[in-house]
Amino acid sequence: MLLESYTTSYVRPPNPSAQHLRCFAALSADISAALPYLNTVLKGYEYLTEPPSLTLKLPGKLVTLHPREIAINIVKDEAEAEEILAWLQREINDVWERREEIQPSFACAARPRVLEILKLLPKTNCRRCGAPTCMVFAVEVGQGGKTPEQCPELDQQKREALQEYLGRFRF
Ligand code: SF4
Repeated sequence: MLLESYTTSYVRPPNPSAQHLRCFAALSADISAALPYLNTVLKGYEYLTEPPSLTLKLPGKLVTLHPREIAINIVKDEAEAEEILAWLQREINDVWERREEIQPSFACAARPRVLEILKLLPKTNCRRCGAPTCMVFAVEVGQGGKTPEQCPELDQQKREALQEYLGRFRF
């Protein structure tokens, strides 16, 4: 069994009219290695590798699995949170048990992050790509309208890193 237990805590959002809670569960084990398998089985909404996390979209809420923590952005009460966490514990232990028969998925359905793209660009705003700034170019790449090849200032290593990052998304 990978995940034996967790400890929950709750936070009420600062807005005084808020009726919901945020839930955090501290995990007894590091579940990083199980995340790509969970991404396959649970069809993750967003999967990130640095640092690793998997976000699931459940009706009316987002649930993010970190190596040592699960965060649920909206729950109506503790009973609802416990139900979700118990289900996730079963899923985590089940995929871990069956990992040899599951194809891990590193794909991410969410859009690429503009700042992640920008990090890999030269940030000289030289305009050789036709965009007025590297930020504008990063937005266009994130939307699939431009490709890393269109920045002539990008060195090979950064180009490959950017292609690898973009390869995780389904445009
Ligand atoms: S060519 Fe590259 S470095 Fe120059 S502005 Fe465009 S993205 Fe930035």
